[in-house]
Amino acid sequence: MRPFAFVKADTRAEAFRAIGAGSSYLAGGTTLVDLMKLDVMRPDRLVDINALSRDLGQIHAEPGWLRLGALARMSQTENHPVVARDYPVLAQSLSLAASAPLRNMASLGGNVLQRTRCVYFRDTSWDACNKRDPGSGCAALTGGNRKLAILGGSHACIANYPGDFAVALTALGASVTLESAAGRRRIPFEALHRLPGDAPHVETNLAPGEMIVEFAIPAAPWTRRSLYLKVRDRQSYEFALVSAAVALDIEDGAVRDARIGLGGIAAKPWRAREAEAFLKGKPLDEAHARAAAEAALAQAVPQSESGFKPELARATLARALTACAAMEI
Ligand code: SF4
Repeated sequence: MRPFAFVKADTRAEAFRAIGAGSSYLAGGTTLVDLMKLDVMRPDRLVDINALSRDLGQIHAEPGWLRLGALARMSQTENHPVVARDYPVLAQSLSLAASAPLRNMASLGGNVLQRTRCVYFRDTSWDACNKRDPGSGCAALTGGNRKLAILGGSHACIANYPGDFAVALTALGASVTLESAAGRRRIPFEALHRLPGDAPHVETNLAPGEMIVEFAIPAAPWTRRSLYLKVRDRQSYEFALVSAAVALDIEDGAVRDARIGLGGIAAKPWRAREAEAFLKGKPLDEAHARAAAEAALAQAVPQSESGFKPELARATLARALTACAAMEI
């Protein structure tokens, strides 16, 4: 690991003063420190913001909104009684991620900013990685790409977004509040992450020095009937091959509204709007669930080793939809 300066901020103003080009905020550190050890991320200064948890580590359930502070820990959030009861898709997306010690440490803000597990990105002995070294090429296009994206990739990068919680936030239409010395703004969560296009090294729409301070999830009729289904190579401490975050508002046997996110298969947390639109007004039986899943994967582009992923994703989404419809709430 390379030498770096360390600054502890006690207030947001101190943090904004300390952050600059080449520096990073440090919360749980479960992604950042890993990548520093691998020499993939090389900040020259870390600004420790854990003392801001007094303000930014809170969870508030209000009429109309669930507000999650960006420094709330994953385990704190998954075990919150309102999150577990009224937003099961959020609680499940958190509890199925990583290991218990990591979830005790990792913040929600850091979790949504986790970076791809593409082996060529994380191993600096590989020269060709446009995300790590812009313009160097993409070793995954002709190499190991079994776990990478089949939706949203580009000629420059087919890395997949690895997280779970962000997929659930995307499905529920959350927003995220960002703050820096220049002020505060709120954007749809879906607009936080970028598709790779020609610039896969630019992964988010965060402005320089901006910090995530809060997530807000609307308390909608579909949040209680929601679930997260994650398919992976082993049952714990593993990233998704495919995941589905689904939330349904069902009345008189027909879908009034559906919210669907897909993970493990896309370059960013993926909202499956075609599938949502297809389901509206229909009964959620197996045939309609399968047809919705077909719509969600219609644009999939499998790579040399990921030909199995479109069908795995269709089966996963169809199963998640039927299980969600059968929930007793
Ligand atoms: Fe790098 Fe993206 Fe290619 Fe992986 S898929 S090697 S992260 S450019």
